[in-house]
Amino acid sequence: MILKRVSLSMNKAVTFSSDVYQVDLTNPPKLNVFTQRQLSKIPQFMLLPENARIGVEVAALVFPFRVNEYVVNELIDWDNWSSCSIFRLTFPQKEMLEPADFDALLAAYKAEDKAAIKEIVERVREGLNPHPAGQKELNVPTYKGEPVEGIQHKYEQTVLFFPAQGQTCHSYCTFCFRWAQFVGDKELKFASKEVEQLVGYLSEHKEVTDILFTGGDPMVMKTKALASYLEAMLLPELDHIKTIRIGTKALTFWPYRFISDGDADELIELLEKVVQAGKHVAIMAHYNHWKELTTDVSKAAIARIRATGAEIRSQGPLLKGINDNADDWAKMWQMQVSQGIIPYYMFVERDTGAHHYFEVKLEKAWHVYREAQKQVSGVCRTARGPSMSASPGKVEVSGITEVNGEKVFTLRFIQGRDPDWVQRPFFAKYNPDATWLDHLEPAFGEERFFFED
Ligand SMILES: *Cc1c(COP(=O)(O)O)cnc(C)c1O
Ligand code: SF4
Repeated sequence: MILKRVSLSMNKAVTFSSDVYQVDLTNPPKLNVFTQRQLSKIPQFMLLPENARIGVEVAALVFPFRVNEYVVNELIDWDNWSSCSIFRLTFPQKEMLEPADFDALLAAYKAEDKAAIKEIVERVREGLNPHPAGQKELNVPTYKGEPVEGIQHKYEQTVLFFPAQGQTCHSYCTFCFRWAQFVGDKELKFASKEVEQLVGYLSEHKEVTDILFTGGDPMVMKTKALASYLEAMLLPELDHIKTIRIGTKALTFWPYRFISDGDADELIELLEKVVQAGKHVAIMAHYNHWKELTTDVSKAAIARIRATGAEIRSQGPLLKGINDNADDWAKMWQMQVSQGIIPYYMFVERDTGAHHYFEVKLEKAWHVYREAQKQVSGVCRTARGPSMSASPGKVEVSGITEVNGEKVFTLRFIQGRDPDWVQRPFFAKYNPDATWLDHLEPAFGEERFFFED
């Protein structure tokens, strides 16, 4: 099959089937990033009220903060900054810290007391559950008797791989559950050095059909580095690997990665090559809001990826103050589908970082999901959820109902540590305050859930 090429030229037009997106490439932008110390270099930020600015400056000492000019200039609505979902997605807020911690940190910050800042920041981070769901200790496999770093193998068919150079992002999300690895704590970083180990492990595990490259964001890697991993997946001994997934938020944070970065064309060619070799390539795009889909450069990047034969699937968590309403989800799914993206998962925000600030009650999560699904046609209803990636597996809140006069949550495993748990429905006592699986108790007077035996 000959795949239609997206033409991308210096006369500024990106064409894909009937759509034409105008992307000005006469002066392709550079990835200029701002971190906590460069907040004052963001002109729009400097126009915010002083207390808001201080709040961000202090919160950004604890939480990962990094934005780039594209996010600042194209995605954030600075006229309505305090309610802007993209602002809240990228700029940490005062309220993400407990008031006492904030006050202590503010005092140390004002006094420019570096030692005190360091001590408070470390203490606060320690209390933020940096490794939810036992991510660090569990699921690390062994190869030739040694633990293989950078690999997690929890569900039979799918191996997660954390390429060493892909453990950062083009911008950071304030709620990131992988925040621990961005804040310089080397010990917490899971990353991998060796593609050989990965190939060796996979070739010994014929039950694995999917490899998921994740991070951070593997799309921060140079194409050459990414190619060394992807091309290894084409080795004959990995014939059983049918699907190559790449988790990324670059379509939101830096769509130029696919358009005008120095090695963007090579990246597109690489995806095409892997597709033509017979693998299913799935870009697992992290999305939180329909605004992320609105710029021409993002549309062009999506079109360009799809023209390679790779599919784009979307997933992201439900977050208070960012996307906790059904209309935004319905609109996002519709926009995704019209651009050729397949909605995949709606997640419940994990119990890490500033969870108290972003958490949505399970009851509300289910309502948001249901009300959003009601508004869209079947082609948008491919998003499953709301799903909790918990220690026993991915657990979906299927509904709230009454059985024999007892109000209950109905739940089911989308993925299970034990494959036999998959698709098994189970029940928990209705708990209006629950925000996570471990807040739930079995219904009908049972002592434990079936998976706890
Ligand atoms: C979600 C997840 C996967 C992929 O699961 P799918 O349902 O196939 O998308 C694999 N490993 C881990 C640890 C996960 O959390
Ligand atoms: S894109 Fe993903 S890994 Fe990167 S900061 Fe956001 S949530 Fe974290």
